[in-house]
Amino acid sequence: MIQLIRGFKDILPGEVEVWQEIEKVARSLLEDFGFKEIRIPIMERTELFKRSIGEDTDIVEKEMYTFPDRKGDLVTLRPEATASICRAYIQHKLYTSDPVQKLYMVGPMFRRERPQKGRYRQFYQIDAEVFGVQSGLVDVQLIFLLVTLCARLNIQDVEAHLNSLGCPQCRPRFRSALTDFLSSVSEKLCADCIRRRERNPLRVLDCKVPSCRAALATAPAVLDYLCDDCRADFDAVTETLAHLGITCVVDKQLVRGLDYYTRTAFEIQTTSLGAQSAVAGGGRYDNLLKELGGPAIPATGFAIGFDRLAELAGLNASDLVQKPDLFLAALGPEGRSLAFNWVCKLGLEGIRTEMDFGNSSLKAQMKRADKLGCAYVLILGDNEIKTGAAIVRDMQTKEQFSIPLPDIIQGIKKVIRQ
Ligand code: AMP
Repeated sequence: MIQLIRGFKDILPGEVEVWQEIEKVARSLLEDFGFKEIRIPIMERTELFKRSIGEDTDIVEKEMYTFPDRKGDLVTLRPEATASICRAYIQHKLYTSDPVQKLYMVGPMFRRERPQKGRYRQFYQIDAEVFGVQSGLVDVQLIFLLVTLCARLNIQDVEAHLNSLGCPQCRPRFRSALTDFLSSVSEKLCADCIRRRERNPLRVLDCKVPSCRAALATAPAVLDYLCDDCRADFDAVTETLAHLGITCVVDKQLVRGLDYYTRTAFEIQTTSLGAQSAVAGGGRYDNLLKELGGPAIPATGFAIGFDRLAELAGLNASDLVQKPDLFLAALGPEGRSLAFNWVCKLGLEGIRTEMDFGNSSLKAQMKRADKLGCAYVLILGDNEIKTGAAIVRDMQTKEQFSIPLPDIIQGIKKVIRQ
């Protein structure tokens, strides 16, 4: 039997209801705050991710599903959404009508990481981006939305972690301090870090190798090298979060694994997920649009790990599964033909109706109705056809009553909707 690919998964009925509910709550929250949905392709030119995420990142170096298409062009299954949304914003010149655009998307991402609980090779994200506003207040609003979403989904123990990654003004001073530090600990670093140390020292800070993590514990932090503007921006962000009653942890080691961030970067972390503690992450990326060939327009955004939300959400799939309203237990050709007609008509009225399409006995049909959890059963045998009225049984109270055959649709609608 052919099994699914390692790190990929099916989301089955009984589980998918939780996903649907989360998506409903997230969409309604984002739309209440003025976000519009954008749908972007699953595949893009590899170049787009190399240029945005950065050549020296784990994602680009090790994790992307990249392959030549039949004509030899290198394409990649999207590992994240920001790059594609920026591409769309630039390509369709969305900024000409209004540079301020709030966009969101929901969909699968692909990264060839080592699979484990909470980490998959195809996973889902809810992604939101705000273009055209420089103010740190937008970063605050994004964090506020993430915290609110977690609260609406009964997710406990969440903490907003926050850092500033500076800007092109303050980066060079930090970069040179970091490079000096990395030289002083170089014998403790892995081969990847040694290589990245020259090309892109900030990415050394992402390394997950335990000996590197230990060596980097005393590395300089960007936060200590901020220019006056970045410092003022970061202070405004933390103060406004405090005004909103959102407690945040200033986390000097939070650098996010992507090159494009400037100023505020954040993660929503939880203690309930074991090793994979980040539920969502994001930050400001004021230079990315320009670097991708677009106008110099600032932007900020976040990505939520949908799979992790589904694991954490205090939602019970069995409360969300929709059970049939009615089972039509019909006997004989005439009864079945009438029942089939009603199944179609009641379905159009939004009444979930099931029937048996075979020749099962009344006992077997009642058993199936019970198994499906139908609220009502309608019994239609030769006798009912003769008397011109079907019997309806309330499966919970076991009460029975009859409805004349010509009034079935109206009668059932009244009973179900009462
Ligand atoms: P990132 O921008 O890489 O931090 O991703 C944003 C969020 O997506 C993370 O906080 C996770 O919740 C989720 N995520 C990232 N990679 C994976 C993965 N391989 N499997 C499941 N969720 C993931």
